[in-house]
Amino acid sequence: MSAAATVAEGRGPDLRGAALLVVGAGIMGAGIAQVAAQAGHRVWLHDARPGAAAQARGKLAATLDGLVAKGRLAADAAAAALARIEPIEQLAQAREATLVVEAIVENLEAKRALFRELEALLPAHAVLATNTSSISVTAIANGLARPQRLAGMHFFNPVPLMKLVEVVSGLQTDPGVAASIFELARSWGKVPVHAKSTPGFIVNRIARPYYAEALALLLEQAATPQVLDACLKAAGFRMGPCELMDLIGHDTNFAVTQSVYEANFLDKRYQPSLVQREMVDGGLLGRKSGRGFYAYPEGVPPLPVPVHEAPVTAREVVVHGRCAVADALEAAAAKALAPQGWGPARERSGGWTGLAIDGARLVMTDGRPAHVLARQEGPGSRAGADVAVFDRVLQPAALAGSALAYAVAPQASAAWRAQAGAWLAALGVAPLAVADTPGLVVARTVAMLVNEAADAVQQGVCTPDAADAAMKLGVNYPAGPFEWLAGWSIDGVLGVLGALDAGYRGERYRASPWLQRGGHAC
Ligand code: NAD
Repeated sequence: MSAAATVAEGRGPDLRGAALLVVGAGIMGAGIAQVAAQAGHRVWLHDARPGAAAQARGKLAATLDGLVAKGRLAADAAAAALARIEPIEQLAQAREATLVVEAIVENLEAKRALFRELEALLPAHAVLATNTSSISVTAIANGLARPQRLAGMHFFNPVPLMKLVEVVSGLQTDPGVAASIFELARSWGKVPVHAKSTPGFIVNRIARPYYAEALALLLEQAATPQVLDACLKAAGFRMGPCELMDLIGHDTNFAVTQSVYEANFLDKRYQPSLVQREMVDGGLLGRKSGRGFYAYPEGVPPLPVPVHEAPVTAREVVVHGRCAVADALEAAAAKALAPQGWGPARERSGGWTGLAIDGARLVMTDGRPAHVLARQEGPGSRAGADVAVFDRVLQPAALAGSALAYAVAPQASAAWRAQAGAWLAALGVAPLAVADTPGLVVARTVAMLVNEAADAVQQGVCTPDAADAAMKLGVNYPAGPFEWLAGWSIDGVLGVLGALDAGYRGERYRASPWLQRGGHAC
């Protein structure tokens, strides 16, 4: 079928089988050429650096051979895919291409100049796609005779392995063209999501708080990188934020943060961190420089295991709450108390989750720090200095052995200061003491991720489903932000954001209008 033909729904050109030009034979362009050739497309590969396209094809040959050797690809399929890729030194050699994917240097002027040249060369119905990771698609299209033919096709690295493709529409992109690129990505075995051209698109925008909240906690010396990483890994993230920033490279991570911050007119929500700035300036770039938060090749050292005394014998233990975490706490408390021949009581209507132990409180954070709870009387709580907060538990079924941040109110008695951690340890978790900050580590991070995703939806950047898919596939999150929200509540997230805002003031923790309106855009 020709690229000019329309797809069944009649929404845009059918690009399956289109002759494809990939411009830029670097890490991304080579990956895109491989995936397209394996999907049966004829691919011309061009790079401004003489010989680079042929070199990239040579590397692809080795990659495909490797897949054959591992039994992941049939030898004839590998040979056929390679035969479909033709390195070219002149763009004019690909004048019959009906689809272009651009993966050149991340520079607006270079991309604009390239697309102007391509527009003059290719058929009028050709579809133009850019793999830019940070430049406005609207801006790249500015100056084109047919700006409606251009959309973003944002792949993730490594292209053959990463399933996500953000299909980015600029202000002038024809919805039919975006729909065609979406279908094309699907036919390549990818999971496409639609996004509006805004700074960071979906993934690079919604992911900012994962790094930013860790850096904010480090700035105020609330916890060590090791503790932050342990807590977020226990919550299901494959890598903690500090080891992840070390892997990405602090220069790259800082540059993306800075670009999103500047593109948002210096909105405080995206403000880069002094902690990271200092590391970049000092050349502590992470794995690639041998030193970041951790030293390499050793990487993250084992977490020192805190020693807790056994909790003193209690007269009464009441488990509060109705949720799965309360159920898990009740089971853990029953196990801990069994040797003494008695078990915990249960109170479901108190409005908080945690344990009351002879009147002292061990409270799952609702955002308010322990020192605030200690002096506040609120629904279901009462003032009392002996209070400690522990972090939000995202995976109640995996409570046993999990790292869990906690903080004790500074007003608490010396006995409770020792007993709070001892009780958490007795419940089978691995308690990690952190400073008494709003929302501790996991609750704070997840609330901010949900808030950012809610704002993206509010601003029409993507749908909740697209945000969930993008974060799970683009950055391997254990769940999407709206899936976390479904297991929490809008009021719960707003509570943590409110406590952060009360603690720090300023624009950073303002709640998304989408959350304030109860999960509706308007
Ligand atoms: P790269 O440096 O590996 O490759 C870029 C290639 O483009 C180089 O070979 C260079 O010679 C060539 N080039 C530069 N200007 C050119 C021009 N005017 N015409 C033809 N060729 C030109 O870079 P990369 O990592 O592959 O990134 C390419 C694009 O993909 C960028 O826009 C980048 O932001 C985006 N991107 C990168 C990643 C990533 O993780 N590397 C992920 C998603 C998107």
